[in-house]
Amino acid sequence: MNLDSLYQEVILDHYKNPLNKKLIPNPIAQVTHLNTSCGDEIVLNLHLNGDLVEHITWEGIGCSISQASTSVMSDLLTGKQINEAMSILESFVEVIQSKGKLNGDEEIIGDGVAFAGVSKFPARVKCALIGWMAFKDALSQGLAKK
Ligand code: ZN
Repeated sequence: MNLDSLYQEVILDHYKNPLNKKLIPNPIAQVTHLNTSCGDEIVLNLHLNGDLVEHITWEGIGCSISQASTSVMSDLLTGKQINEAMSILESFVEVIQSKGKLNGDEEIIGDGVAFAGVSKFPARVKCALIGWMAFKDALSQGLAKK
C-alpha cells in the first residue's frame, strides 16, 4: 500500500466515522463556518475548563475532506492546553498552505498528515481548514468571554 492510498483511507475512515460529531449544549462559544465554493458547513461548540480545551463538538455537512479534517481536529485538540492546541493548529495550517512543500510531522499533527497532499490543490485548501478555522474563531470568542 502506498502512502497516498493509506492517507486516503485515513480520510475516508474519519469521514465515515467522524469523532465528536454531536453538539454538547451550553458551550462557551458556538460558531458556524461556511465554505461556499464547495458547500461545506461546520457548526462548532467549544467548552473550555480553565486553560484546557475540554470539548470540541460539531455538526456539519460537506465534502469528505472538510468533514474528515474537522473530525481529526476535534480529536487532536480536545484535552490540550489552549497554547498547545494553538501551536498544533498553526503547524497544521502551515502544512496545508505549503503548496505541497511540507509533509507535516505526525508527532505534532497526528492524522492531520493525511491532508498534506491537499495543499497541492488550492480549491481544496479551504475544505481542509474549515473546521480548524472554526475552532480558532470559537476559541477567540470563548477567551473574550472569560
Ligand atoms: Zn469541501
